[in-house]
This record gives sequence, structure tokens and C-alpha cells, in this order.
Amino acid sequence: MAAAAALVALAAVGAGSLLDLRTPTPKSADAPADAFSAGRAYQDVQVIAARSHVAGSPANEQVRAHLEQKLRGLGLETEVQDTVAREAGQLSGAAAGATLAQVRNVVARLPGTDSTGRVFLVAHYDSVQTGPGGNDDAAGTSTILEVARALSTGPRPRNDIVFVLTDAEEACLCGASAFAASHPLAADGGVVLNLEARGSTGPVIMFETSRNNAKLVDIFGRAAPHPVGTSFAVEIYRALPNDTDFTAFLDQKFVGLNSAYIDGGAIYHTPLDTPAAMDRGSLQQHGDNALGLAREFGGTDLTDLRSGHDATYFPVPGGLVRYPGSLTLPLALLAVVAVAALGWLTRRSGRASTGRLAAGFALALVPIVAAPVAAQLLWLAITTIRPGYAELLDPYRPIWYRLAVLALATAILLTWYALTRRRIGPAALAVGGLAWLALLGVLLAVAVPGGAYLTTLPALAGALGGLVALRTRQTGPWPVVAVTAAAAVGVVILLPTVVLLFPALGMAMGGVAALVAVLLGLVALPVVDLLHPQAGGQRGLLALRARRLAVLPAGAAAVAAVVLAGVGLGVDRFDADHPAPTHLMYAMDAGTGQARWLSHESDPQPWTDGYVDGVTTVDDFPGLGDAELRGGPAPVANLPAPKVEVLSDTRSGDERLVRVRVVPQRPVRLLTLHVNGPTAVTSATVNGRQFDVGRTGTQKPWGFGVVFHAPPAEGVEIALTLHSADGDPVALRAMDASDGLDALPGFRPRPPAVGVVGSHSSEMLAVARTYPL
Ligand SMILES: [Zn+2]
Repeated sequence: MAAAAALVALAAVGAGSLLDLRTPTPKSADAPADAFSAGRAYQDVQVIAARSHVAGSPANEQVRAHLEQKLRGLGLETEVQDTVAREAGQLSGAAAGATLAQVRNVVARLPGTDSTGRVFLVAHYDSVQTGPGGNDDAAGTSTILEVARALSTGPRPRNDIVFVLTDAEEACLCGASAFAASHPLAADGGVVLNLEARGSTGPVIMFETSRNNAKLVDIFGRAAPHPVGTSFAVEIYRALPNDTDFTAFLDQKFVGLNSAYIDGGAIYHTPLDTPAAMDRGSLQQHGDNALGLAREFGGTDLTDLRSGHDATYFPVPGGLVRYPGSLTLPLALLAVVAVAALGWLTRRSGRASTGRLAAGFALALVPIVAAPVAAQLLWLAITTIRPGYAELLDPYRPIWYRLAVLALATAILLTWYALTRRRIGPAALAVGGLAWLALLGVLLAVAVPGGAYLTTLPALAGALGGLVALRTRQTGPWPVVAVTAAAAVGVVILLPTVVLLFPALGMAMGGVAALVAVLLGLVALPVVDLLHPQAGGQRGLLALRARRLAVLPAGAAAVAAVVLAGVGLGVDRFDADHPAPTHLMYAMDAGTGQARWLSHESDPQPWTDGYVDGVTTVDDFPGLGDAELRGGPAPVANLPAPKVEVLSDTRSGDERLVRVRVVPQRPVRLLTLHVNGPTAVTSATVNGRQFDVGRTGTQKPWGFGVVFHAPPAEGVEIALTLHSADGDPVALRAMDASDGLDALPGFRPRPPAVGVVGSHSSEMLAVARTYPL
């Protein structure tokens, strides 16, 4: 009875934790004026994401006009910041050189009554070329419009609120970088709330902060109605090669928070990222949080939001736990001491010998290693059966595979337990498991402090629960209550982590979720053991039967893993609504009259295979930023290369100043110019703006380059100072790129179940030409 009650209690705690991650019910369009309504915001989503609207395109101009009209309609001071800007992060483009864009940010201000600083609500309104951006980032953009509406109907806030709808995020984060670096309203910095979507559903996660975030996180926990965020996510995100507009604000002047929903990643950057794909519960959560935070930051004294430390924080039902990062290491060490004390008391109470404790510690490493390895092997098997998954961030219907990974981790843990329990004993195994969690806590505290709570707190709780259970043994329900309460701490902390890790990392890294799941299982071992058929201490034949019984759950979990993986393969088939993504582009040299199909796919799928054969070098297309791709011959299209007009060419000593204008001869999204590799470039100016050229003259055959997104039709003027001996041949390689392969000779449209990879080069049509100087 006690065992059943304990398990029910644990299950209830788990259910509560998961329910807490659910998105709120979307409010309809007739919700009160001071509230955020996903119904109202969604009307803007439909306008913004009616079609693909990449930076510089006529479609993006229409979106911009809509944004201006909406913000002006609210009576806000609204303007367009139209400028050339350089990329903030290191996303793409030339190995040496610069990536820039012509950007047009829409900026509106709600003036504060007695401003102590500025609050910036930031989202990008441009989309990728491959899709309409129904979520990415019509979600953030429409949220900001609706928040602006709600704020301007109520009493004026104390601080200035600035709505920043950026351009060219997808290209190079250039809009945000232009705003942060050169807009007058950004001159004094402030608090940035960036809103993103990298999928179509799931809770909105506050996944990135500026450094020394304790005060910001405290406000987030207080003022966001649905605060989902963990200091662990911040650490993961810093380790991933991803960037958002927020990167452009991460300097001395700004502090802030970055939020996104990320589940349903299969549609990310693809034609399927439509308004219809959006989960309006996620939109509602974005809006509720953004409005709550805007009101709170709008009324707070913003002069001192930077505190000397980072906080550790994580979601629990009903709120956000937070404590100073300075406690991380002391708590981790305390957990080690507590587990050591538990081990000592376990030995003294006669529950386990020193040898068994040592064996328990050594053996507990087995499931910790085996579960993630098995999860990765499972995914390897699944992708061997369905290679199309390689090009997806996550499967369309990942739930079956996620459950299969959890079943697999359970099977491994239970099998391990059934094999070791009789020899080593439940007490030694439980202590051994907690010891690993405590040690991991110390490692994390040193290397990834924001993630240390994940193992430190469950280990600490487990050790304390165990100590209480040992001290009060054989006295009523207290031992069971103690170990159950301790396991509940593990469930509250680790179960949401498992659930959030799956969409964050995708199935390709499902092993990480399996690892956390096994750690959760180790924490819950004392409770699971209460149900063990041998827990009653049977002997003889009964014990033998009990041992056989104990293997049953492990077997059932193993069968479940196989069945779930099979169901996943059966249910998540590629079809017209869930196409297998393929990557193809076209590159033509207008000088040599040669053209190629190119693909990023490492193992081309049947449709792509009709265009490309082996691996080919693409160093004659430096503007693509790739060294090698799959390639195949393509018919030559009647397309003009960009023109390079030499405006002036002067020499003094071994310095040569060349001024050129690069003019696209057709509507293009991208324009690039590269100088041949051995030529050293010592300074460069683009449209009158000089920039640091970095290290040049090493790459072959093309070195220093300029990548310019959304170029104006009249072209881009580039001045270069070259260092070369008189007579050295200097050549320029100009390339431009547009989107869409449909009109090309030899292109056969995709069958219904074949889709487009969400990538910045998917469906790109590049034309290049070399110009000797
Ligand atoms: Zn995007």
C-alpha cells in the first residue's frame, strides 16, 4: 500500500510539472483591450506571413508598410531606419571580409512619463526565402504589434517603450546590428526583450540572457505570467552555433532576455512555416509574457538592472525558482558531503558493506553511459531506415520517437537494476546513483554553472531523504514519505528538463534526454524499489519467482521501446503535408558558360540524386561560403552575371586603390565580390562605409570578399586598397543570387512528398563571373 501510494504521489508530482509547461488558452479577438489576445495578433500573422518576404523583396516592402500603418494607427512616433549595416555575429559569408545588408527597420516609440531608460521589444519581420515565416518571426512581430496596442490603450508607462521590428535577421542579423549600433534611441542602451520562434508549438522558453542576469531573471519570474526558463538553457544555447537578433544587443549598453517557442521544429525555415501551422497557445504565451514584462520593466527604475552575478533558475509548478549563482559550488559540495554521510550511515546501519557501496558506485555508471549510447544507436537505426530525417531539425511527429527513447532508458535502467540488485543490494545501488549525481553537480558547477542544479539538488534531496529514512526506520510511514519527497524533488527538476531537451536538441541528440531520464530514474530508485517483488525479503522458491517477476518491467519497457519506434516509423511517413526535405541550388559561371546543380545533402535523396553525383569543390563560388558540395552538370540558363564597372584605379608605390561598382543585372537577394586569394587587401569601403578587413591574402583561390544582402538595383560601390607588386594579376569574382529554380531549363518540379530544406541557400540561383583588373 505504501509503495503504491508513493508511486501515485510521484506520478502526480510529475503530471503537475508537465501540466505547468502547457501553453495558455488563446484569447479570442474580443478579449478586453488591456489584455493580449492571440486572436487579434493572429490577424497580423496572416498579413505578415501571407508569402515569403525575404529582406529586400517587394513582399517585404508590403509587410513593412503594414507594420508602419499599424503602429502609426496607434498614435506612436513611427519611423523607418534605412541604412547599410554589417552583420553582428559570425553567421555566414566570406572567410575574410564583411557581410552587410541594406536594412529597413521599423521603429516606434511610446514615450514614458518619467523615463529612467528604455525598454526595447524586438522581433524580426523578414522571413527566409524558402518560406513565409508564419512562426519565424511573424510570431514575434505580431506579438509586438498587439503588445503595442495593449500598452497604448492603458496609462502611459514611466519608461520609454521602443518597438523595434528588424529587417534582414535571416540574412545576417544586420537590422538589429544597425539599430543597436547607430539608432539614436539605442544610444543609451536599455533592456531588450527579443521574441523568436524556431518551430510552431510548445511553451515559450526564455533561453538566453545578458551576463549578470540575477535582477532580470528575478523580474522575469515575478512579471511573466508563464515563466518557463532555465539557466541550463542559457548554457546550452551559448554552446550552440545559433544566433538571433539578440546577439547584436549583447554588448555593454544593453541587458535583456531572449524568448522563443521551439517545438515543431520540422517546419523551421521551410515552406510549411505558415500561419496555419502556428499553435496559438504559444502565441498567447509569447504575448502574455511580453506584455507582463513590458509593463514591469516599463515601471521599474532601469538604472541598475545589472547585478554582479548570474542566477540559477528553473521552472516549477506555479513559478520560477531562482538563487544566486554563487551558491552553485557550495551546494554542489554540500551534496557530495550529504551523499558521503548517507553512504557512511548506510554502512553503519548494516544495509551495505564498504565493498558493496563501492560496487554500487561503480555499477551505477553503467546505465548512465548505456542509455545515451543506446538512444543514439536507436536514432541511427531509425535514420538508416528513413534517411530523410537527416535534413530535418526534428521529425514531423516526434512524440513516438521521444517516448521510444524514454522506454529504452527505462528498459536499460530496470534491466541493470534486476541484474545487480540481489548481489549489491538496493541501498548500495541507490547511494551509488546519488553519488554520480553529486559528482556531476560539482563538474557542472565548475564547467557549466547554470546547469549544476540539475544534479546537485536531486542528489542533495536524495541524500537527505535517505538519511531521514535510515534514522527513522521501522517507525511508521516516515521512511517511505522521506524517500518519496526526495524523489519528488528529482521529478520536479528533471522531468521538465527531459521534456524540453527533446525539442531543444532534436532527435539527433536524443541521447542527452536519455541521460537526464536515467539520472531521474536513479533518483527515483528507492521508490521504485518499494514495489520490487523481493522487497518483502522472500527466500527460497518465492525469491526465485520474485527475481523472475522483477525482470518483467524491464522486458516490457524494452518491448515498448521497439514498438514505439515502429509506430513512429509507421505514423511519421513523408507525404504531401509532411514532405521529405531536399536541398538544391544552381550555380552558373556566365564567363565560362558552365552551370552546376549543387546540394548540401551529404547522402542525397532520390529526387536530389537526379541532379547531383559526387562531391565537388565550389571554391569558384566563394559567395556560397562552402568548400565542398554535391554537384552535377546543369543546362546553361540565359542569365546575366553582375557587372563590375571600374570607377577608378590608381597606384602609389605598391599600394593600389581600386573603386568599382557592382551592379546586378536582374532582381537578386544577394551580391558578392571577392578578390583573388594571394592579393592582400588592407582597407575596404562599401557604399562609403569603411570597415576592418581582418586577415586577408591567404585563402585560395578567392580571398577577401564582401557579401551584400538586399542590394539596391543601382548596385553597390566598393573601394579596395590592394597590396600587390606591379604586374601581379588581380582579379575580382562577382556573384549574385536570386531564389527559385522553377524557371530553369532542366528543372523538374518536386513530386508532392518531396519538400524543401529550410536553409539559407535552398533553392538559390547563383550567377558569377570573373573580372580581371
Ligand atoms: Zn529564422
